[in-house]
Amino acid sequence: MTRPSSQSCIILRIAVPSPVNRLFDYAPPEKVATTSIQPGIRVLVPFGRRQLTGILIETDTSTTIHPQKLRAALEILDHTPVFDQRLLALIKWASRYYHYPLGEACATALPVLLRNPKQQKRNISFWWTLTDTGKSIQPGSLKNASRQATVIARLQVNAEGLSGDALDAPLSVLKTLEQKGWLKKIPPPEMIKQTSAAYHTQQITLNAAQTSAFEQTRNKLDSFYPCLLEGVTGSGKTAVYLALIKEVLKRQQQVLVLVPEIGLTPQLVQRFGEQLDTPLAVMHSGLNKGQRLAAWQQARSGAAGVIIGTRSAVFSALAKPGLIIVDEEHDVSLKQQEGFRYSARDLAVWRAHQYQIPVVLGSATPSLESLHNVQTNRYTLLSLPERAGNASMPDMTLLDVRQSSMQDNLSDTLIAQIQSHLTKGGQVLLFLNRRGFAPVMLCHDCGWSAKCQRCDANMTYHRSSRQLRCHHCDHQQRLPVQCPECGSSELIAIGQGTERIEAALQKCFPQYEVLRIDRDTTSRKGSLKKALKRASSGQAPILLGTQMLAKGHHFPGVTLVAILDVDQGLLSADFRSSERMAQLIIQVAGRSGRGEQQGEVIIQTHQPEHPLLQQLISQGYPAFAKLALQERQLALLPPYTQLAMLRAESPQADEPMNYLLNAKQLATPLLSDGINFWGPVPAPMERRAGRYRAQLLVQSAERACLQKFLRQWLPQIANQKSTRVRWSIDVDPQDTF
Ligand code: ADP
Ligand code: ZN
Ligand code: ZN
Repeated sequence: MTRPSSQSCIILRIAVPSPVNRLFDYAPPEKVATTSIQPGIRVLVPFGRRQLTGILIETDTSTTIHPQKLRAALEILDHTPVFDQRLLALIKWASRYYHYPLGEACATALPVLLRNPKQQKRNISFWWTLTDTGKSIQPGSLKNASRQATVIARLQVNAEGLSGDALDAPLSVLKTLEQKGWLKKIPPPEMIKQTSAAYHTQQITLNAAQTSAFEQTRNKLDSFYPCLLEGVTGSGKTAVYLALIKEVLKRQQQVLVLVPEIGLTPQLVQRFGEQLDTPLAVMHSGLNKGQRLAAWQQARSGAAGVIIGTRSAVFSALAKPGLIIVDEEHDVSLKQQEGFRYSARDLAVWRAHQYQIPVVLGSATPSLESLHNVQTNRYTLLSLPERAGNASMPDMTLLDVRQSSMQDNLSDTLIAQIQSHLTKGGQVLLFLNRRGFAPVMLCHDCGWSAKCQRCDANMTYHRSSRQLRCHHCDHQQRLPVQCPECGSSELIAIGQGTERIEAALQKCFPQYEVLRIDRDTTSRKGSLKKALKRASSGQAPILLGTQMLAKGHHFPGVTLVAILDVDQGLLSADFRSSERMAQLIIQVAGRSGRGEQQGEVIIQTHQPEHPLLQQLISQGYPAFAKLALQERQLALLPPYTQLAMLRAESPQADEPMNYLLNAKQLATPLLSDGINFWGPVPAPMERRAGRYRAQLLVQSAERACLQKFLRQWLPQIANQKSTRVRWSIDVDPQDTF
């Protein structure tokens, strides 16, 4: 070890956002008081030719870098750490467990505006709001100054003010308005205490099961208490969350609520807003950078009592956490599927342990992992076995459609049922997990089919836009008029997507409105919210959609839910597919009969004897899950064993397989008992977006054993320089294809 020659003896050990999984040493910037240097602050550093924002992890008095090579950091960016000690510990743990570079993990955990110091200086030192004069201005009167009019109009509906970034207007425009006396600067919102205007005092009285779940958790507010709130659809899990949140707020603490996709749960956010007398910090991908930063600051300062967000919110800085809730804990979107592949659910449990507070995992269809944790007494089970209020569980029937006459996936029996529900004034929801018009376009004369040039997949026909689209890489092209192979004009659309079902429904039920909800109909901002409102108000009698419709919504008017096609899910190769299928069926079914009227569920299938379906329909999800867990145990699969998946991809066909074979070779000297390889094999869809893909599964009975192995093996893989192969490691992978 050599001592640095610089004036001070302090070395900054910094996590820099770079793919290299190690820390980098720097000398402090010149003329910086060492008192301002503490772990968790941001430091601007030179990195190659660039300047990057890193996080100070620790300081030292010596470094192995030669004094002449040791570079000095450029600037200390914070007076107080952006990550307090416990948050930093969480990120460090996650970086280690998921084998993802700490610098990049830190960057993921920061709001974008804090990753780039220049942007940050421009944006967050103050916000803008209207003066009294400004409030009285009619934006319409500013005919020749449309940008000014837009700013005024936006601030008139955002009384709490907006950042310059959120206003999305040039500084010159804002300055002009300020000079006119219409706008003024205010401190950013962490200083503001807002009160919710629509605060409701009307309360739900919890039923016995809800009360028991509530009380058990409330009695444990001062300790680590991981629990699984298993409540059937419509059992009132949200009411339990709300009661607990109120309790925590009374103690002047904060609650972190993680949800799968906020866009899909506007009702939840609305209910929280109405029932809780605290500012909510809402974090999701629909926010712009300024709004994201504001929410982050509200969480960190403690101004927001409740922080509700999608998976990345698990990294929120929290002033005084008292409870963590993970809603729909089984949902795959809680696991990030690229880059930093963390599970927000699992990190939430880790974080609750760190703070010694309860964590409530809620679901009607819990993951097998969480159920296993209940079986092994790691989690407490809180169950809500019945629907709340006057609603009861819907009746489920399997409808055998073999040999029956069908019009575009709608059997005659189903059509009659739909008619009967509509006539009685009920609302009908049809579920098909395929958007577009038809998944296959085929030439009737020569058999040519439309394939994606970049993927091993068919192109889906979208009739309204006359396009072929690949759902795997988003490649789009016009529908050819003639077959490119033989010139025939007889191109036929095979199979059904939601667009086609919509057309069929309009033909069968011309007097009723059909509301289709899928990614194609809801791509415009705000359109999903509007559609969901129409659906829940009962205005649209026929609802049709993909899994967007399945999640957590409360549509009290729906009396019939029809699942048009379960067969595809039953035939999938992934070991988790039956679990996913069962969850989806129960969740979709759960949209039926949530009001006063008894609900019904019809599942069309060509495989009515399928054991999974039989089990699920006759005995329900818990019985299914028990059986599925037994199968996993016999097959040595999670949650009974641990998996990690090494993936490789390349534009060259054979390279990913060769790369993984080599990686497996590298492991030979490291192999200890208890590590098994499955593969490598080409990915089930080998080519996607022009890249060939292969995968190698590593399995072990012990988490620690697997981690130890990965820690030795991955650095060796990282040392294999290959310019054409990209690799990644996925610990606890959620899909294995
Ligand atoms: P879940 O999230 O479990 O599917 P929700 O929390 O959405 O269920 O509740 C379903 C419906 O039941 C909501 O309309 C809710 O207002 C109502 N509800 C919940 N708890 C009660 C209760 N104790 N008494 C009456 N109605 C209730
Ligand atoms: Zn042809
Ligand atoms: Zn494609």
